[in-house]
Amino acid sequence: MADNTNQLPYFFGNITREEAEDYLKQGGSSDGLYLLRQSRSYLGGYALSVSHGRKPYHYTIERELSGTYAIAGGISHNSPVELCNYHTYESSGLVCLLKKSFSRPSGVQPKIGPFEDLKENLIREYVQQTWNLRGEALEQAFISQKPQLEKLIATTAHEKMPWFHGSILREESEQLLLNGVKSNGTFLIRERDNNGSYALCLLHDRKVSHYRIDRDKTGKLSIPEGKKFDTLWQLVEHYSYKPDGLLRVLTNPCPRSSANSSAAGATSFRDFGLPSPPTVNWSANGIISRIKSYSFPKAGCKKTTNIERTRSLSKANPNVYKERQADRAIEASLYSMPMDTDVYRGIYEDPDELRAQTVKIQREQLSLDDVELGSGNFGTVKKGTLKMTKTERKVAIKILKNEGNDPSIQEELLREATVMQQLDNPYIVRMIGICEAEFWMLVMELAELGPLNKFLTKNRNISEKNVTELVHQVSMGMKYLEEKNFVHRDLAARNVLLVTQHYAKISDFGLSKAIGSDENYYKAKSCGKWPVKWYAPECINFYKFSSKSDVWSFGVLMWEAYSYGQKPYKGMKGADVSQMIESGNRMESPPRCPPELYDLMKLCWTYKVEDRPSFVNVELKLRNYYYDIAQ
Ligand code: ATP
Repeated sequence: MADNTNQLPYFFGNITREEAEDYLKQGGSSDGLYLLRQSRSYLGGYALSVSHGRKPYHYTIERELSGTYAIAGGISHNSPVELCNYHTYESSGLVCLLKKSFSRPSGVQPKIGPFEDLKENLIREYVQQTWNLRGEALEQAFISQKPQLEKLIATTAHEKMPWFHGSILREESEQLLLNGVKSNGTFLIRERDNNGSYALCLLHDRKVSHYRIDRDKTGKLSIPEGKKFDTLWQLVEHYSYKPDGLLRVLTNPCPRSSANSSAAGATSFRDFGLPSPPTVNWSANGIISRIKSYSFPKAGCKKTTNIERTRSLSKANPNVYKERQADRAIEASLYSMPMDTDVYRGIYEDPDELRAQTVKIQREQLSLDDVELGSGNFGTVKKGTLKMTKTERKVAIKILKNEGNDPSIQEELLREATVMQQLDNPYIVRMIGICEAEFWMLVMELAELGPLNKFLTKNRNISEKNVTELVHQVSMGMKYLEEKNFVHRDLAARNVLLVTQHYAKISDFGLSKAIGSDENYYKAKSCGKWPVKWYAPECINFYKFSSKSDVWSFGVLMWEAYSYGQKPYKGMKGADVSQMIESGNRMESPPRCPPELYDLMKLCWTYKVEDRPSFVNVELKLRNYYYDIAQ
């Protein structure tokens, strides 16, 4: 369910409790007057402020792991809006029923939180440093993994702040504070032990007070008896805004010796200014480095549930697990991200591995495993190893069965190789080279989990969110193909291969064609052995193929994905399918398909080419939907 909370007239964004109270006063403080705001202490959470008996009441709405929302102890709802609507007729725990919403005065937009401002830059910087990505590769990683990266960054952003000093000693912190600027309110945070607790050290009247910051069983951080927070930066934000039990508010961060001097003196994220966070590398002693040093179980190798994985994680590395604050980060990283695999970037990005025009691979470089990955009309695809200048890589090898040595069969393979050679995108299976030996062999990147349709048939427990993540990646690969003026002509779930449960690549370029710059479609001379159930009407009727006809196929692929590998138009003949399409009918929505995505499928099945969306539109719609559900 997509959630459009930001657009609600009574949503005020990242305002404080006091600001909320002022607004309710402005609205007359009538019984049941309410507004919604972003939680300043819980990631992804909200707060509901309600007037009753001329007094304000505030309720925290937590985002649960399942993606639902609830006031502590209350029932779960799909969205904050649903929760508010529910309380218009059920007070169940609230001081009164919600009677009237208070809307933002005209011209007032929901207030943007301090972390929101910094997030994008921090994420890019993190991706750049962690995976050493630049340019297009960085952009693709950012687009496809933004929700997961946001969670990682949110729980580790403090590592970048000048007030965070890591595991320095109490005495050291005192020296730093007493010998520094010496103004009241100067503060720093240090790590206390391996259990994920910290200390807030605050200078006031020439004395340093040390406040313990504990972590409870659920991973929330708090100063004893104080308010709870998901992250350290939210805690600092809160206490720099009001003392709330401390001797005074936090004002100046005590900079680390390595900290960027321009950041010194600032208190909140906003004060630090964009886009130059302190010059400290991610992962120096941080949670991220501890998580990254753990090798995540390869999804799909063994069927493990999240709970089992978390348990095995705790056994494998108790120190990591103890850091309950890292739970969300762990949750976000339980699987390897596409960038963690060795097929995210092309093999030839390494300047030591020369890329020739048509890459010829020597037979001695290749060893073939017995494992057969699949087969087709041409022969078989086997797993193998490619020896390169510096390293070895597991690869997939398409072996041409050509007993009669028919040159046209070799030409077909070469044509496929020529198309693949021109493509270089993380969401497309890249060709590595051709080997002419006892057989002709096409060497490709390995996508070990195989075709999407088969994978989903066997793994029906995969969440709709996970399916959307994969389908979105396919749309990213197709957007790239559209940009490069190639038509795939065989886009179907069987031709999407999985590297991991969270990483899909488009494959099988046997029917693909480049479109000339002066045309916008490819016209086939005659009808071949075509996958007609995936073909748009103009392909069947006029043999015309364009990126828009690939969009039609993408709609069928979406249907296959959300029906977990069912065959489209089951039991129907090609001619009956065409008749069904011509008469304006389309397949029904698969039972587990979210309505928004069934609407997108139907849009892909728009009869007229000119009215059908392009992959630029399709990818954006999927991206927005995915971000909404994966936040
Ligand atoms: P089609 O009949 O759909 O055109 P094809 O005969 O051209 O297929 P491919 O789709 O290229 O053959 O490959 C057949 C099977 O081999 C795939 O379904 C898949 O299981 C396996 N396979 C192909 N390429 C790879 C790869 N790069 N990594 C892992 N497995 C692969």
